[in-house]
Parts: sequence; C-alpha cells; structure tokens
Amino acid sequence: MVKSMDEVVKTVFQEAERLQDEVTTLCSELVKVPSVNPLGVTNDVVEYIHSYFDDIDLPCEVLEREAGKSNLCIRLQGEKAGKILWLGHLDVVPAGDLSLWHADPFGGDLIGDRVYGRGTSDMKGACASAMVATKILSRMTPDHRCTVEFWFTCDEETGAENGVKWLSETGRLRGDVCLIGDSSCDLPHHPTIDVGCKGYLHMALKASGVTAHGSQPFLGDNAIDKLITAANSAKRVEELRLDVPASLEPVIRSTLDDLKRAIHLRPDQLAKLKRIFHYPTASLNMIEGGVKINVVPDHAEAELDVRVTLGIALDAVKNRLVALVKNSGVTDVEVAFTRSQGGYYEDPNSPAMTKFIKAVEIATKVPPTLKLLSGGTDAVHLKANVDIPCLGFGVGVQGMAHVSNEYTTVENLVSGTKVYAIFPLLYSVDGSP
Ligand SMILES: [Zn+2]
Repeated sequence: MVKSMDEVVKTVFQEAERLQDEVTTLCSELVKVPSVNPLGVTNDVVEYIHSYFDDIDLPCEVLEREAGKSNLCIRLQGEKAGKILWLGHLDVVPAGDLSLWHADPFGGDLIGDRVYGRGTSDMKGACASAMVATKILSRMTPDHRCTVEFWFTCDEETGAENGVKWLSETGRLRGDVCLIGDSSCDLPHHPTIDVGCKGYLHMALKASGVTAHGSQPFLGDNAIDKLITAANSAKRVEELRLDVPASLEPVIRSTLDDLKRAIHLRPDQLAKLKRIFHYPTASLNMIEGGVKINVVPDHAEAELDVRVTLGIALDAVKNRLVALVKNSGVTDVEVAFTRSQGGYYEDPNSPAMTKFIKAVEIATKVPPTLKLLSGGTDAVHLKANVDIPCLGFGVGVQGMAHVSNEYTTVENLVSGTKVYAIFPLLYSVDGSP
C-alpha cells in the first residue's frame, strides 16, 4: 500500500525520537575526536563519520584540497524534483581557558539532558543530527523525497579556504536550496530559522612616523599614537545610520527579541544590541607596533573588524571609513580593505521558505520565528558562488558558541534530526506534494 505523505512524515518523526540515544552518543563521540582550528585538521572526524555510514552501507565521498583538511559528502537520491544541500562544519574553536570549564571540553559528557564539550553547539551536535537524519531517510523508499546531499566540511572557523569556499568555487556544491546547520534554536518554546546574515569589511591601517630615542620623543613622530588616533576616528563609522530595507524590520525585531531573551545584558549592552542592524559595528581587534621600550616607533599596524547589515552597499561604508581616517588629522596613515563580503537576506515568502517553516513547525510543534545572524556562516561563501536560498536551522543553544562550558541539549539534537529528515519530504522545486 502506498503511504500518504502524512504517514511518511509521522514515521520520520517517530524514528527520530526512537534514535534519541544514538544522536546523543554521536554528538559525544564527535566532540571526542579532535578537530580544533587552528590547525583545523578534520580527517579523523571525517573518518569517524565515514565508518558510521559504512556500517549502514551508505557510500560517501571524501574531498580534500589540503592533506588532513577533509570534507565528506553523502548523497541520497530522491525521486522528487530538486536538490537540498545541507552544510555543516566539523572544525571547532580552541577550548580557551581550561580553568573556566567544569566539564572536560573534549569529553562529550552527558549531564542531565545536556551534552557538554567544545563543538556541541557549534556545531558537531547538528552534524550528529544530520547523520541520524541521513540514516532515517536512507531506510525509506526514495519516492517521497527530493535529492539531498549532506556535506560535513572543514575550515569554517578560519575562512573556509579548504571547505565551503573551495567546494563552491570549484562547482561541487550545486543544488536548489541550502540548509545550514550552523545555528542555535531556542527550544522548546522559540524555534528560529536564520534567513540572512550581516556582511563584513576588514580594514587595515598602517601608520608611518619617525623614530627617536625614547627620552626625547618630541624629536620623533610616534606611529602608534597616530595609529590609535586614526583607528578611534574610524570607529565613529558606528554613527552611520544604514538604509535598511523596510521588509527587514519585522525580522530585525524578532531577532532582537530572540537575543534579548537568551543573553542577560547590562543596560549599556542592551543599548548597543538595539543598534546592531541599523548601524555598523567596528572593533579594533589587531594591533602591532614598536620595537623596544626606549625607541619611538616609526611603524604601526592595526585591523578593524567592521560589520554591516545585509542589503547595504559596502562602498558607502568604505567611503565613510576613509573619510573618517582623513578627518582624524593624522598624516601618513594608509587605509586598505583586505577582505569584504556583503550580507544576504532571503525572501520570507519564497516556496522554499514556506516548506522549511512547515518542516520546523512539524518537528518542534511551535511556529518558528525568522531571525538574522549578526555574524557570518558558510552561507556567505556559498552565496558568493551559488545563487540559491540559504536557510539556517541548528541544534546549538543560544549564546553557547565559542564559550566555556559549551553544551547542547538532547531535545535540540532530536529536533535537528526531525527537521533535517522532514524537509526533503516536503520540498520539491516544482512544488509537487
Ligand atoms: Zn559554527
């Protein structure tokens, strides 16, 4: 007897719940396999995932641009028109100050309903959910789903040179819609879908001066002083009101509500947060200069990380930054933009979005809200090369990326499994049920 779509979706839902222990164990095991970036070596964790799929007779492909920096792709052919790309990264940031952790950052301990460890939220947890979703889908006949490729990639934390950037530039990532697992979902009451992220400008400043003996600084021209004056002036770019598209305002409001709920903020921090989508942020994050305590420096360099709302032309912001440095009154300061990337924003009413909202609602039993990310994900690199909608749903806990005592919850892992397995059942490019 041919199963109805409702029955198929229900089966997937039940299977995801039945496999709760499996997805939890997988999350723990992935945390235990080292993939800290830098170095960003992912071949061991890719091997672990490979063996999971080997055990259930699913062929997968490993791709490397640089030895040790592995990416893995598993493809499930479907009979409905269209193809979903699921993207998740396997590298994690370092654990940081170990004394701040109350669990082993690479232990993957299950304490209560939480799995602790570096990468649980960002984002080995979502990779575990995707592995179990693949297993569930692979055991079903292909007539109910479109084709889906799950990509487990490297290098997200350091610019994706060997990961999504390379894979998309070389034409390996092709599909009709992309689902990014690099996100948090505020469950059980507030599931969210990412519909866009901010862009960035990396601004480099180089100041030149004249060296002198430290005891007679007036004979020199201090490059560090000039650099700091110029950088402080550049930071006033935060006063530039951005021309944000009106259609973004409701999503901005729900994003800010989501962030306010999840993070406890002081009043001054809250005031800054409220500006985050209508004004750029500028942070002086790198500085270098000076050769010795008693020598006036003749050279100093700095880098500012400037973030800009999606839909904003980067040139206007660049021009303001150049003008601000000029207006600072210091001379011999060179300005360069070393990297820049605009943000993006998906149409909340597109067919892909409608189906995805439904998948999340089925999985979590709550209508999701749409949100924007203040940082970037691999979607930025994909969008630069492949013009398809990128939607985000992850299993991280809000505020847990890159912090000590990172964790995710068992409920999040199971919800991720459901979402990742249900979306290929609902989606097709021609809208067929
Ligand atoms: Zn991430």
